[in-house]
Amino acid sequence: MRNLLLLAPPAAGKGTQAQLLEKTYGIVPISTGNLLRQASKRGDAFGKKIDAILKSGALVEDAIMIDLLREQLQALHGSPFLLDGFPRTVAQAKALDALLDEAHTSLDYVFLLEVPKDVLEKRITGRRICEVCGTVYNVHQKDAPSLCHCGGSLVTRSDDTKAAYQIRYGAYLNSTYPLVEYYEAKNLLYRIDANRSIEEVFASISAILNRGEKHD
Ligand code: AMP
Repeated sequence: MRNLLLLAPPAAGKGTQAQLLEKTYGIVPISTGNLLRQASKRGDAFGKKIDAILKSGALVEDAIMIDLLREQLQALHGSPFLLDGFPRTVAQAKALDALLDEAHTSLDYVFLLEVPKDVLEKRITGRRICEVCGTVYNVHQKDAPSLCHCGGSLVTRSDDTKAAYQIRYGAYLNSTYPLVEYYEAKNLLYRIDANRSIEEVFASISAILNRGEKHD
């Protein structure tokens, strides 16, 4: 298995696909959103600062994110990884390239999950997250459970409000969407229609990985 990156607007299903990729391929997911949510629960000054940024829907500064990612990559000791939520800016993508170069490794696949904005806005209201392990659910899902498989309570994310969503979507268009061109130029980008069921989206990603198909 190679090194993967999931690129998507907020609520397009990155976290859910990351969980399936971890389960199926044993690849180590690095979710910067989950790491920040953990940090935001700390009562110290850093935790409070992160909590306020998350609630607003804005992006956390590049310097903080790059340091966080560096630590995570170092802890992997060369295992294949799946980035969920990083990079979100061109500056982060350039820093990632430098970190991977230093570690003598590279990205192999960048999957862009495409979902129309009106569908994303509907999804956001039904989304619930386990406060213990971060597993994502949606109340509109068939047989949606009332508790996580780990026993944890399911809660609404503090940034899953309409107001914060508009800010998050704006940040995606302005700061993250330019990465589509960045990774297209490197011949790493694979577009996935993510306005389908979880299983169908996962099947499309798996088909590309299983064929070992890569752009020339
Ligand atoms: P996510 O769980 O990926 O939707 O991320 C939730 C929130 O965490 C985002 O709206 C940002 O505030 C913050 N965040 C996560 N990853 C990054 C990143 N790479 N750069 C800046 N902010 C981030």
